[in-house]
Order: sequence, then structure tokens, then C-alpha cells
Amino acid sequence: MTFKAEYIWIDGTEPTAKLRSKTKILAGEGLPLAELPIWGFDGSSTNQAKGHASDRVLKPVFSCPDPIRGGNDVLVLCEVLNTDMTPHESNTRAALAEVAAKYASQEPIFGIEQEYTFFEGTRPLGFPVNGFPAPQGGYYCGVGVDEIHGRPIVEAHLENCLKAGLGISGINAEVMPGQWEFQVGPLAPLEVSDQLWVARWLLYRTAEDFNVSATLDPKPVKGDWNGAGAHTNFSTKAMREGYDAIITACESLGEGSKPLDHVKNYGAGIDDRLTGLHETAPWDKYSYGVSDRGASVRIPWQVEQDQKGYIEDRRPNANVDPYVVTRLLVDTCCEALAKAGQV
Ligand code: ADP
Ligand code: MN
Ligand code: MN
Ligand code: MN
Repeated sequence: MTFKAEYIWIDGTEPTAKLRSKTKILAGEGLPLAELPIWGFDGSSTNQAKGHASDRVLKPVFSCPDPIRGGNDVLVLCEVLNTDMTPHESNTRAALAEVAAKYASQEPIFGIEQEYTFFEGTRPLGFPVNGFPAPQGGYYCGVGVDEIHGRPIVEAHLENCLKAGLGISGINAEVMPGQWEFQVGPLAPLEVSDQLWVARWLLYRTAEDFNVSATLDPKPVKGDWNGAGAHTNFSTKAMREGYDAIITACESLGEGSKPLDHVKNYGAGIDDRLTGLHETAPWDKYSYGVSDRGASVRIPWQVEQDQKGYIEDRRPNANVDPYVVTRLLVDTCCEALAKAGQV
């Protein structure tokens, strides 16, 4: 008896890392995460090593049922280590693990809204061969063949995420034709990030079977068309219990060099997307506000109403590394909350 384990990892492509995977046949009918073997790969083919010392180590950090192969087969997300078992420089998970452990008592959780765009060849799905479709307006959460492009793929991806047991919490059609969103969370920092990477892998893999590609390009069509973001919703225990902590978190993100420290790590090409148009705030001006979709950080209307809840950082690009955005938010906000004694 054997089962197939698809080992997935994040490569060293710059400026935006890509997902890679390969299959390992293992004996038995399945294994718990801790018993899944470490494995290796050729780092010189993934921008993670030079050819003369090319071996890199794959260490399993998360596994779930493989919804595509089914049976006992599994998906195995790995972190990349050097051969001395230290984190490889492309491994952003290790730094998040440290920060998440430091502030675990504040119980931070995240819900990430992953926007993306389907492409058929060089055109977004639903764009005519010549020219452009009707301007934006009716596509967001639309219905009908005149507005919706790719729903069978989106439904298949949702089903695959659910079968894999991922904490996916919803989907919707977005503002530009061929553009969609799914949300993962709310979950703890490492969980939401691991599961978002696996959900991204499943998106690409599911779309393969439809001969369509999916991209996290933050500005897939230049001009008067929406960019693609990854709004990051965040709360700690104190924020879920009171409004002072909500304000402390919003203020902390605006202090000193924080706005730029965050934005420059929120995905390559962020200045193309955060222009101040299309429901964005300009990348170099930090602001927060209730219900404000033109602010960097939005306090949802309901949160002001309830005087507790969460905040939405609207700045991260679709191509952001979730290990990085969750680390920065925990680091900045939890440090400020601890200083203010709001924990
Ligand atoms: P939007 O109105 O911005 O489109 P969505 O419904 O797409 O909002 O996404 C909101 C996200 O916020 C969901 O992923 C949800 O799980 C997450 N969320 C809800 N409550 C909390 C909370 N207390 N802390 C963190 N995230 C939360
Ligand atoms: Mn949303
Ligand atoms: Mn959206
Ligand atoms: Mn949002």
C-alpha cells in the first residue's frame, strides 16, 4: 500500500516568489505531519542555490487531504532549509513563527481576502480579442454570462479547498471581468498563512484543468481597471473585546517609519496599485477611518457600532507574502497594545 504526497514549497523567484511542487510516493495509508519525511530539491533551479552546492531541504510544516487525487493522498506544505537545517534566506515563515510565539498570549487572528485574475493566453478571461469589455460597474458580485467569466473554475476551487479542510470562508466575483476573490480565516498567523499558500496552489492547479491560468498580479490591466489586493483583516483578543484597542492598533500603524516599513513589504508593484483611485489610499499616505474604503486601514461600520471587533488593512497587494504581512501586523500592533497595557 502506498500514498502520494505532493510536497509544495515557496521558491526564490524575485521580486515575487512562486510555488513549486513535486510528488513523493510513501509507504502505508497516510502519516501524521510529524512523521512525514524531510525531502530535498535542486535549489539551483528555483533561485535558492548555486549549482555547485545546490541541495536544499524541504521540511513539512502543514499537511491536508489532496482533494484532486483523493483517497489517502495528501498535500504537504514545506519550509525551505539549508542543509545545516537553518532557515533558507527565502524562508519567511521562520521569522513569523518567532513573532507569533512572542505575542501568542494576545491571540492574534487574521482573515485574508485573496483577489486574483484569470487569464486565457494574454487576455483576462472575458476580455474580447480586440479592445475592451464594457467599463467596470456591473461585474462585482454579478450574475449572468454577460458579466461572469470562470465561475466553474471558481466553484471547483472552492470545493477543493473545502475537501482539503482549509479554513476558506467565502468567495465573490470582483470589480473587473475575470477577477475573483476568496477569503481564508479567521485563523492564527501561521495557520492563515500556510492555508493561504495551499489555497493559492489549489487555485493554479484547479485552473490548469480548465486551460486557464490564474495570476496574483496586483495590476493585471493598466488604466481604469481595478488592481488586485489582499485585504488583511486583523484582531487580537483585546480588539475583539474593546474599541480602545482598535484605535491603538490603527494609530500604531501610522507611527514614525511604520507606514513605509509595512508598504514596502506588502508586495512588488504596490505603487502601481495604491494610487488613490479604485478604492485605494495612496501608498505614501497613511490614514484610517470608519467604513472608509479610501483609507489605508478601514474600521468596519459594524465594529464601530459594536465598539469591538477587527480592522482591515487594505494595502497589501494580491501578491503579498502572507508570512510577511501577518508578521508585520502582529509585530507593530501587538507591541503597541502591550505598551499601552491593552492586552
Ligand atoms: P469585505 O467587506 O472587505 O469584502 P470580506 O467578507 O471579504 O470583507 O472579508 C472579511 C474577512 O474578515 C473574512 O475573511 C473574515 O473571516 C475576517 N474576519 C472576521 N472577523 C474577524 C476578526 N475578528 N479578526 C480577524 N479577521 C476577521
Ligand atoms: Mn472581500
Ligand atoms: Mn475584494
Ligand atoms: Mn475587503
